[in-house]
Amino acid sequence: MFKRQYIINNMKVICIGAGAAGLFYSLNASKRGAEVILLESNFKAGKKLAITGKGRCNITNNKPVNEFINHVVRNPKFLYSSLNQFTPQDTMEFFESHGCPLKVERGDRVFPQSDKAQSIINTLVNEAKKAGVIFKYNEKVISCYKDQNEFVVKTKDNVYKSDLLVIATGGKSYPLTGSLGDGYKFAKNFGHKIIDLKPALCPIKIKERIHKEMIGFTLKNVEILAKTQYFSRKVFGDLEFLPGEITGPITLTLSSLINRFDEVELVLDFKPALDNEKLSNRILREIEKTPNEDVKHLLSTLLPKEMREFFIENTNFDVDKKLNSFSKKERLELIDSLKHFHLTFDGLEDIEKAVVTSGGVDVNELNQKTLESKLVPGLYFIGEIIDVDAFTGGYSLQIALSTAYAAACNIKLIYDK
Ligand SMILES: Cc1cc2nc3c(=O)[nH]c(=O)nc-3n(C[C@H](O)[C@H](O)[C@H](O)COP(=O)(O)OP(=O)(O)OC[C@H]3O[C@@H](n4cnc5c(N)ncnc54)[C@H](O)[C@@H]3O)c2cc1C
Repeated sequence: MFKRQYIINNMKVICIGAGAAGLFYSLNASKRGAEVILLESNFKAGKKLAITGKGRCNITNNKPVNEFINHVVRNPKFLYSSLNQFTPQDTMEFFESHGCPLKVERGDRVFPQSDKAQSIINTLVNEAKKAGVIFKYNEKVISCYKDQNEFVVKTKDNVYKSDLLVIATGGKSYPLTGSLGDGYKFAKNFGHKIIDLKPALCPIKIKERIHKEMIGFTLKNVEILAKTQYFSRKVFGDLEFLPGEITGPITLTLSSLINRFDEVELVLDFKPALDNEKLSNRILREIEKTPNEDVKHLLSTLLPKEMREFFIENTNFDVDKKLNSFSKKERLELIDSLKHFHLTFDGLEDIEKAVVTSGGVDVNELNQKTLESKLVPGLYFIGEIIDVDAFTGGYSLQIALSTAYAAACNIKLIYDK
């Protein structure tokens, strides 16, 4: 018993990165008696956390783990253990019981009642400080390696040594927050395989010209079918237009699914609520009502004004034709164009502008219960640096917290060895 206390009390840990994962790891490891030094290249903690959820921080998603896992895109099974060790409900309990009341919104998304991400950061930082974590800001780690049983971590001005090393440097997205992808280099130097990094939760570039009036316009309740060599998937929701790309909830979801394919067919359904017959009847009614109007008029009853020129430019309809001479063949073609409008996939937005980075440290080389490296004992990877990613809805931050917690809990197991 004495030895156990002795080892825990003297366990020196370095954690690189004071984002969600690093902060939560450090506070939990510290609570377990480890001496934790948290190295952060920025002058403060949680720079990315501050911009999450449009500044409101969607900290988790209040779904049971078995449902939560369905929203994880890459390696959901790998996360099963850590998510069960620290569930979304545990996250809620943690913040609520540490002075940060939460609220649950549409789709089980959880936010602080204050609507301020800073409340989440303050809770994590304050609790970490109370637990005894030693914060070192403006300490950008340049290199790290293992010398015998000791980890050596170098920053520009200092050298730190520890028994355990935790890499929580995040992905490569939004580099201004400090997530520059340094951790991948560190992982490679330790012999870890990095699964190709790809943008996820990001806009999709298309080749069609986006008209001035479409920029910033939201097309509501549409559906996009994305077809790749291996699967096809329909996503329903809102779509926004930006120069050269489409964005909004639909594309965020689709981007995570298609980011490993060069060839993707994108088919937009402007009228998912109407099947061909209903749409045909609607068009016929309009033709009967206004036989002397032209096709342009018909389109004005079917599409928002912001979309009309775009639709006309990318289809072959004679828009000046009078509706009284609009043939059945043309009507069927119009229905087809409205329900199967092809957008030409031109890749995804750059990784720097993606909400999360897909790919990262290969999960096959990590212990899924503890997040410890199978190659280097005492080395851990937590948070976005791992090859796991999920859809929007608070899943990414929960993954950061759960992997952090599972790694911190392993401190006891190390003693047991
Ligand atoms: C705009 C935006 C909105 C988002 N909104 C949400 C949301 O509402 N809900 C949600 O679940 N997810 C959201 N995400 C995703 C989520 O923020 C990330 O998945 C999560 O923050 C990852 O946490 P992390 O601790 O692994 O990495 P990070 O939060 O990226 O933290 C990594 C830390 O490591 C530091 N670091 C990096 N390299 C070094 C080095 N060499 N030396 C020292 N320190 C270093 C960085 O400065 C940084 O502070 C959003 C992401 C973005 C970009």
